[in-house]
Amino acid sequence: MEPFKIKATESIPFTSRAEREAALKSAGYNLFSVPSSKITIDLLTDSGTSAMSDRQWAALMIGDESYAGSRNYFRLEETVRRISGYKHVIPLHQGRVAENLLFSNCVRPGDHVPNNIHFDTTKANIEHNGGQAIDCVIDAAYDPQADIPFKGDMDLEKLDRVLADVGRDRIPLVLLTITNNSGGGQPVSLANATEVSDWCKRHGIPFFYDACRFAENAYFCKVRSGLDGDIPTIARRFFDLADGCTMSAKKDGLVNMGGFVALNDDALAEKVTNMLILIEGFPTYGGLAGRDLEAMAQGLEEVLDERYLAHRIGQVRDFGQALRDAGVPILVPVGGHAVYLDARRFLPHIAQDQFPAQALTCALYLEGGVRAVEIGGLMFGAGGNWPELELVRLAVPRRVYTSSHLDYVVEIAATLFEKRDSIRGLQITYEAPVLRHFTAQLKPVE
Ligand SMILES: *Cc1c(COP(=O)(O)O)cnc(C)c1O
Repeated sequence: MEPFKIKATESIPFTSRAEREAALKSAGYNLFSVPSSKITIDLLTDSGTSAMSDRQWAALMIGDESYAGSRNYFRLEETVRRISGYKHVIPLHQGRVAENLLFSNCVRPGDHVPNNIHFDTTKANIEHNGGQAIDCVIDAAYDPQADIPFKGDMDLEKLDRVLADVGRDRIPLVLLTITNNSGGGQPVSLANATEVSDWCKRHGIPFFYDACRFAENAYFCKVRSGLDGDIPTIARRFFDLADGCTMSAKKDGLVNMGGFVALNDDALAEKVTNMLILIEGFPTYGGLAGRDLEAMAQGLEEVLDERYLAHRIGQVRDFGQALRDAGVPILVPVGGHAVYLDARRFLPHIAQDQFPAQALTCALYLEGGVRAVEIGGLMFGAGGNWPELELVRLAVPRRVYTSSHLDYVVEIAATLFEKRDSIRGLQITYEAPVLRHFTAQLKPVE
């Protein structure tokens, strides 16, 4: 059961099918353009959508809005240092700023940056600096039915191949995303992180985590490989293997806005901090209000509570199991923050160049006002480089929806699966040059 009770409520919108049809059409068949007032259950993302605790709301009242040296910064710094062990803690307003600051100071044109699978903003920020983002996850990650415990693991042979192809000097850092969001929120084992760390040390290459869901990853390690110790101890064993991390606290920071870079290298920290001042703000607030820093520090403490994580991971797992029981094809095993529908198996009659996962996303909305997000050809297929997977991600916000909300989503998906033959593909009518999925406009194929 939920290890919390509810103190404030927010009503959710209900719409008619006609209203949803009109909303979808005027949004160009892109759910990012549908206003939230027309969404009944919003599973677009788990990012920045968490419900804060009473203690976090209380933290807002002790915000110290001093321009320099806010006490909230020092609490955040102390908290992140205690959890991660990293020396420098640089606050900023969200994860992609961490990526921008880090990569613009270490990625040069022609560089290659390996990761298990790069998240979309990570890949875009590397490419924006002239680098190439290389995915080196194990092959099983691309098989939606391979039910193995650590599907986010890096394939060391693929790392070797990148090294052989481009040479050590063209690899400014290696990233490891915990959990692996774009591969289905799949965890990375401590053993694999250790191998990656050793590999990086052997070749003198810095190693960073994309640590957005570090606590969920630690929980998976505890239950799936029976690691000893509490969650903070396991998380720390991961952090100890690397030189630093980028963090979107909109995930495991349990806040609506926030993030940081944490790292050990003094010279790099100085460069990042100088750039921070240019684009975000003074180093003790980094684009956030003092109160936000306090809420983030509090969230980082709460996310390491094992009861919280058992409920969190359990809720997502049960949601996935209910979909499976209803015959709906999903990616297995179920990851930490979302259930991913396998659009290739759901809609085998729609060719990849007609965006099956986007078509399914639109159909879910039409059927029940449920908002999901496409992770497939629309997100990653620009320029005709089609991705292996066509997924629809049903991300579960933290501490926001109850099991009966998710039961409703299961019903909608099951109903849709019954009439899947009636769902048609889509074609693009407008796309932006980068990150096209956010603003693309589409229309149904005739
Ligand atoms: C969300 C996310 C990011 C980017 O963070 P924002 O706060 O959205 O800018 C980077 N990497 C991963 C794995 C993420 O999930």
